[in-house]
Amino acid sequence: MSELPGPWSDIINLFTQYIGEHNPTVARQINMTIDQLVAAHSVEEFKQIGVTMRDSWIEYAQSIFRLEFIPPSVSELSSSDVKRMIEYSLRRVTGDTRYLKKMVNTAYDLTNKLQHDTNATFEMALMCISSSALCMGLLHLTMARDELLVKRPYYKCPNCGSLKLEVREHWEADIDGGAFRVDKLVCTECNWFYIEEMGGMSGIQD
Ligand SMILES: [Zn+2]
Repeated sequence: MSELPGPWSDIINLFTQYIGEHNPTVARQINMTIDQLVAAHSVEEFKQIGVTMRDSWIEYAQSIFRLEFIPPSVSELSSSDVKRMIEYSLRRVTGDTRYLKKMVNTAYDLTNKLQHDTNATFEMALMCISSSALCMGLLHLTMARDELLVKRPYYKCPNCGSLKLEVREHWEADIDGGAFRVDKLVCTECNWFYIEEMGGMSGIQD
């Protein structure tokens, strides 16, 4: 098979383009699952689509989630805990999100099932890709409506992958002996930093 049947490619591409506005990495990963599906013949290849899609779910959940969404009663959250990251993000959304949460959980469960299923099929993989793309698109719509999608240069540390980034005040000396204030994005786990105002300067602080 060299193409997806009927309108499936167009439908999934539509969502992918939309998701890509906020997260090009996830959009690329979903496109990759389509390429994998078109080329897949064996159970192992269908399962691999579940693996790629799980990665894109983790990436997507991290990109909409913010640390301040964690309820005070929760002390630790794994950076691959997709369901909880999405659940906490949706708590900030107005209106009834119960059905969206159920859809998301079902699409994510199917993704996990696919990557381990020794009877994985083309139809199951197609269902996984299309339901995941739809759910991410709907999450995107809901979060954007409530202005909860923040454009940030980084939502996780590119050095260690941690989500524990915080903005700190930083004073930089200027040429006439004064100083000016800039926002310094710092990873609290590995001390990686990034300063947008200084030409995107980054490094590890000691
Ligand atoms: Zn880090």
